[in-house]
Amino acid sequence: MRIERIRVVRVPLVLVSPLRTSDGAHQSRDAVLVEVTDASGYVGWGENVAPVGVAYVDDSAQQSYEAMVNLLIPEVTQHEVFVADFFANNWWGIEGHHFAKHAIESALWDVHAKRQGKSLASVLGGVTGVVEVGAVVGMHDTIDAVVDEVMQRVNEGYARVKIKIAPGHDAEVLAAVREAVGIEYALQADANGAYSASDIDLLCSFDAYALQFIEQPFAAQDLDSHAQLSQRSATSVCLDESVMTTSQLLNALDLGACDVVNIKPSRVGGIREAIAMHDLLVERGVDAWVGGMLETGIGRASCLALASMPGFTLTPDLSASARYFQRDVTAPFVLDDGCLHVPQGIGIGVEPLEEVLAEENVVIETVFEH
Ligand code: MG
Repeated sequence: MRIERIRVVRVPLVLVSPLRTSDGAHQSRDAVLVEVTDASGYVGWGENVAPVGVAYVDDSAQQSYEAMVNLLIPEVTQHEVFVADFFANNWWGIEGHHFAKHAIESALWDVHAKRQGKSLASVLGGVTGVVEVGAVVGMHDTIDAVVDEVMQRVNEGYARVKIKIAPGHDAEVLAAVREAVGIEYALQADANGAYSASDIDLLCSFDAYALQFIEQPFAAQDLDSHAQLSQRSATSVCLDESVMTTSQLLNALDLGACDVVNIKPSRVGGIREAIAMHDLLVERGVDAWVGGMLETGIGRASCLALASMPGFTLTPDLSASARYFQRDVTAPFVLDDGCLHVPQGIGIGVEPLEEVLAEENVVIETVFEH
């Protein structure tokens, strides 16, 4: 396809409740949307969910925006682009900038699916129209407050809850939450790399809380500690931040550093890379799931299409719009008996609401026009 125009749209958003993790509190953010129009008039949407402030992995929001506008869009618009090209050319040798790449690439996937008159889910080989989803509960000042929020999510119908843990906010919290939800409920913990090798004994003691897995206990580069924990602990070890590329995933699998993998298309630099990881994990028989990053309905729609693929065997981190935002930029995603529906319309199946785009504080910038 030839790209006719690319616009970047910023929509200020207010989070329903701040999400506290081991790297700080997230209260509000701008949705950064990318709209790509091809020469036939097909329009696709993507989203750049790079976080403001401390970078989670790769670029933070401002760096990612600049890479997108000053580096990636000028490059991509020089080419006749097909999504398959990204396999062959690997972004013409440009390294890094995964959030920005995913934002552009997912808009192109949306166009790609629309040109075929198909939903993105069907283009990707999705096998289900409904996905059971989970919620993430951040840190609170008291254990009671964590338990309260967990029970709120359980009562809303979420099939599993993942709680954020860090040194000093772990065993007692896990014990209280496990007690509250009962032994059968799917409970997970995410440490965002907050522990070190000397904590392996402590982390093994979390076996008592029957977690489905513990996610990213150690720093991204520390695969050895993940491998040791995976060997010593009865609880599965899940990787998130450690896996930015398919070659890193291969290395982690070969080292025995994970039993489960969280695949976020933003973190890995796009749907193409996420598919490559999905296929590798299916081949190795390793469980995987799709992680969320506070996406609006635009980013969530493509994550749900991905999550409908058969190798994503565990519940994704993709909650209903009302969990995150006072108002979403698309028609809201609504929880239905613990599930979200995978959009079945052509492309990603959703687009920003006209009234949202017309708002005074929304900034629409034309970055490229043929
Ligand atoms: Mg995580």
